[in-house]
Amino acid sequence: MVKTWHSAPGGTYICPSCGAVYEVTLQRFSARDKDYACCECCDNVMAEWNDTEVPSFKLVEAPKMQGED
Ligand SMILES: [Zn+2]
Repeated sequence: MVKTWHSAPGGTYICPSCGAVYEVTLQRFSARDKDYACCECCDNVMAEWNDTEVPSFKLVEAPKMQGED
């Protein structure tokens, strides 16, 4: 089963809400983990999981601030 944020381990994820760019790495745990990840910039929930394979999001590029144009 391929989830959308799942397709490229070590790839990037762009927050659909604010455009922040994250580097995604997948980690495997022996025990199932239930958690979710929120965007650091806008608190949008980017991923939820209940699995032994858990994504880790690292912010690499903050979105452009709105209202500064
Ligand atoms: Zn965001």
